[in-house]
Amino acid sequence: MLQDNLTVESAILIGVVTLSQDLRMVLDYLDELEFLAETAGATVMNRFIQRIDSQNPGTLIGKGKLEEIRLYAEENDIDILIFDDDLSPTQLRNIEQAIGRRVVDRTNLILDIFAKRAQTAYAKVQVELAQYLYLLPRLAGMWSHLERQRGGIGLRGPGEREIETDRRIIRQRIGKLREDLKKIDLQMNTQRQNRGKMVRVALVGYTNVGKSTLMNLLSKSEVFAENKLFATLDTTTRKVVIGNLPFLLSDTVGFIRKLPHHLVESFKSTLDEVRESDLLLHVVDISHPGFEEQIGIVNQTLSDLHCADKPVILLFNKMDAFSYVPKDEDDLTPGTRENISLEDLMNSWMAKNNNPCIFISAKQRTNIEALKELLYAQVREIHTTRYPYNDFLY
Ligand code: GDP
Ligand code: MG
Repeated sequence: MLQDNLTVESAILIGVVTLSQDLRMVLDYLDELEFLAETAGATVMNRFIQRIDSQNPGTLIGKGKLEEIRLYAEENDIDILIFDDDLSPTQLRNIEQAIGRRVVDRTNLILDIFAKRAQTAYAKVQVELAQYLYLLPRLAGMWSHLERQRGGIGLRGPGEREIETDRRIIRQRIGKLREDLKKIDLQMNTQRQNRGKMVRVALVGYTNVGKSTLMNLLSKSEVFAENKLFATLDTTTRKVVIGNLPFLLSDTVGFIRKLPHHLVESFKSTLDEVRESDLLLHVVDISHPGFEEQIGIVNQTLSDLHCADKPVILLFNKMDAFSYVPKDEDDLTPGTRENISLEDLMNSWMAKNNNPCIFISAKQRTNIEALKELLYAQVREIHTTRYPYNDFLY
């Protein structure tokens, strides 16, 4: 939605801490938001955090904080304010009017990144649909934007002045996009059905954990992997052979905290790959301080996709980047996440998890053979349960 406008823009981040949250957590969220902002091309100049007991329905944050931000934005020539929380159409409009800068919430930022990352016609249709669904209730506010600042937020399609006309056009466009998606879905379904009897394995996980790196490693393909969020939007599927056993491996779009529901809805077909797979390889970045929360978010998203019952291998990646601070022997305060050694972590996860777990480094190729053995065993079991009389020749 912002198209390339963010490229050279300076931004500030704004987060709120509610009574039920602790500051540490919100700081981690803002780290992630900063990563998202950078991925979209903005430079983050500062962060503002407000503690609130209850949300201000009109502007989310309080008047005083708003004024503080306005002053800062003015003095430092800030282009854009990025909120970690989703803003209602009214809040968005009010804050913009109060501060006189462009305001983007988390959903809008994620949609913007998706729009830039979409490569195939298929991904583009899905993103465009999500963008219009997001835009529709916010049209009135967008117009005040456009009048002040042409080309601010990308309202590519409609050119008319009347909001009602625009709504109609957008609704029509949404209808058309949904139809297009249905057609593509049919094609994809047929393609998937033509793949024969091979067992299907899907790499799933939070964004930036190393899924595409692993895909490349296991399938010797060249899937785009980089230290950015959502480097890959489209699902890539490759045939992989371990021993004499061929199976299909898919690299899928990463999940993230508060993934906009419009995106989940319009990416349903991309996520079909996950839904139709026989085995999930849930990749975790063990070097990330919030990895446990990320596991929770991925599991929640999987259960939203009705995939909670699928067999899973929990794959802890980036063990090379894991660091910890051993606790002093005479330090009697309870240990925190930073004080836990990799070994303890491995033991506790292996003990509490019913699914097979494995710890690897895709980058340094640590434990890749063990991973292959584990995959072989799991895929073979699925295969022989399903086709008891078949060996692996197709
Ligand atoms: P995806 O978003 O899950 O597909 O993640 P990518 O495969 O694109 O990787 C994200 C970033 O993590 C890239 O910069 C990778 O080089 C890096 N990465 C992947 N595996 C490892 C690993 O084992 N150790 C370290 N330190 N970095 C890794
Ligand atoms: Mg990827």
